[in-house]
Amino acid sequence: MQTNGLTPHTTVQKKTVRMRIAGFSRTSLRWSLRAGMRTLYFRPKTLNEAVLHLATPGIQVLSGGTDFYPALGDSVAQGPLLDVSNLHELRGISEQHDYVRIGGLTTWSDIVRANLPRCFDALKGAAREIGSVQIQNRGTVAGNLCNASPAADGVPPLLALDAEVELTSQAGTRRMPVSEFIVGNRKTRRRPDELLTAIWVPRALDPAASCFLKLGARRYLVISISMVAAVVLVERGRVSAARVAVGSCSAVARRLTDLERDLIGAVAKLGLGASVTPAHVAVLSPIDDVRATAEYRLDASLTLTRRALDMCVEAH
Ligand SMILES: Cc1cc2nc3c(=O)[nH]c(=O)nc-3n(C[C@H](O)[C@H](O)[C@H](O)COP(=O)(O)OP(=O)(O)OC[C@H]3O[C@@H](n4cnc5c(N)ncnc54)[C@H](O)[C@@H]3O)c2cc1C
Repeated sequence: MQTNGLTPHTTVQKKTVRMRIAGFSRTSLRWSLRAGMRTLYFRPKTLNEAVLHLATPGIQVLSGGTDFYPALGDSVAQGPLLDVSNLHELRGISEQHDYVRIGGLTTWSDIVRANLPRCFDALKGAAREIGSVQIQNRGTVAGNLCNASPAADGVPPLLALDAEVELTSQAGTRRMPVSEFIVGNRKTRRRPDELLTAIWVPRALDPAASCFLKLGARRYLVISISMVAAVVLVERGRVSAARVAVGSCSAVARRLTDLERDLIGAVAKLGLGASVTPAHVAVLSPIDDVRATAEYRLDASLTLTRRALDMCVEAH
């Protein structure tokens, strides 16, 4: 058998084959013999090793597994799997001069516990809304972005923070805004040979107030009907910068850029939300589905946006 042009030598031990791969210290590969299929499973300890495995044709990345496994339904994983959960170098948050860097394997619980600038309150709010504590303990920021669900709670706050993703392959590292990374329902610009290794958030809005509001059919463990992340910076009593992003109301979460522009210079007092008009949310393109009608989603987005702005102003 050949992997990435590297020929492992194998010792069969029950259903597990342990292999030594040239250039790797030691790698454990397992053949899962389920339903007559063979799944090659890699769990490297270093990023260098991981990106080498990404050259394996058809390989799929597995992180916390909280989107990956439910998506399989009753079937089992097919094809080679790259389990990145042992790449501890990709987990954690560091504050740098111009950016806050969030490692791709940072979990939602890590985000909740982290001491972060005020403008991250919306991201923290989203983290607390993701599934349950058990899901937050396993689910990662990278998994949420790469899965690219229109209802991914992490996306609107990261859009509102002007965040960028860092993608790493054997060829090196590239960065692009989250707004360019997610291009459709479950579609991203990640190449098959790339891992999402970090999220970079510029620190220009550090002191801004921010909040996240999510509407679902019940309080917990809920897929949203609409969600809004707002980041508002106030200087000398007026709005000097505003970012508003809405999720679950279009194939990809969207920034309300006309609203952001109209808010600049507005007096930052309670009632600011009333300046949001239906025209500001008309850029959204919600669908009718089992959770809500498109009309209801638009109306909910308008109300959530108004409330989110007032909450930001109150927090200043
Ligand atoms: C019960 C339940 C409730 C949930 N509730 C919510 C919710 O309220 N809000 C919400 O937004 N989500 C929710 N989720 C979805 C999920 O928990 C999150 O999207 C989570 O952040 C996914 O992260 P993960 O590490 O588990 O991803 P995984 O399941 O491991 O992977 C998801 C996708 O991303 C890819 N991937 C993962 N990591 C990388 C990487 N570093 N580089 C490249 N590709 C990668 C995988 O190949 C896969 O396609 C829920 C899930 C469950 C099971």
